Amino acid sequence: MAKLYFRYGAMGSSKTANAIMVQYNYQERGQNALMLKPRLDNRDGDRTVGSRSGLNAPCRYVEELDSIDLTTCDCVIVDEAQFLTKAQVQRLVDIVDDLGIPVICYGLRADFQGNLFEGSHWLMAWADSIEEIKTVCWCGRKAIMNARVANGVVVKSGEQIVLGGNESYVALCRRHWSRGELAPMEIRRISTGKETYMPLLLEADPSREMIEGYLDAGELYALMVNGQTCAVAVVAKREDGAWEIKNLAVAPQTRGKGYGVRLLGHLFKVLSARCDRLYVGTSEGNAPFYEKYGFARDGVIEGFFEKHYPEPVIENGKTLKDMIVMVKKL
Ligand SMILES: [Zn+2]
Repeated sequence: MAKLYFRYGAMGSSKTANAIMVQYNYQERGQNALMLKPRLDNRDGDRTVGSRSGLNAPCRYVEELDSIDLTTCDCVIVDEAQFLTKAQVQRLVDIVDDLGIPVICYGLRADFQGNLFEGSHWLMAWADSIEEIKTVCWCGRKAIMNARVANGVVVKSGEQIVLGGNESYVALCRRHWSRGELAPMEIRRISTGKETYMPLLLEADPSREMIEGYLDAGELYALMVNGQTCAVAVVAKREDGAWEIKNLAVAPQTRGKGYGVRLLGHLFKVLSARCDRLYVGTSEGNAPFYEKYGFARDGVIEGFFEKHYPEPVIENGKTLKDMIVMVKKL
């Protein structure tokens, strides 16, 4: 018997990654799983579902169901199902009951104010199977609420759906959501929307072109304090298998608080599981910082800053010429 499934979870509970894996599992068995999402959600570009972990997959819109041939379809997967209308959920019920095709919906349960979304309401009411995908608050408790964060503050009023705004969403336990308390400090790996960190990355590397050259393939880490980004780092794998710090920047207004060192320590921890050497190319002025944390001088690339940057790179009033290459054993 085909069933209608609703798998719900808070922001960051890997719902989309789960949806993509389920589709993959069908494909591996030679079966066809149709990926859908409501058209309203266009954050990931046209006809694509994308997860925070970086996985993405092509999809169709729920609104296009009438023009999609379901006869060769073994399963329908719906991402961002909280945005479905009542009529669209009814349509999915019909696909299950009349065509005998299982439908698996992934979505949020409640909005940033704690109210059910329309899609979630009717899925909760009509689904054969309701399952929770769990994630945790910064305090370690189960996160069940989705806080909307603007300028580092949890906001409790506004439209239910704001697309393309500059606010972000953070999963919190109910206690921290109602008190509006974001993590005192946390370090996160950022996989989507990396370009929004460009202003901060430019603090450590004045060339947008250089940053664009390593940002995509590199791993971006952000240190947040009360929801505000205070430091970022980009690391990338070298051809010889070692890793390299490409960028380490602390926001000007939060310097001198040890955030750069905290982030550096996090990189040591994450990368020591993957390689035994970590490199960094830096200036003479910044070399003592790295030496303090176990890096040793490995060489000098003469004229690097003159050669690779269209304009002189000035640091503390001095024009940079040579790059100091340093390495640390992990
Ligand atoms: Zn909490």
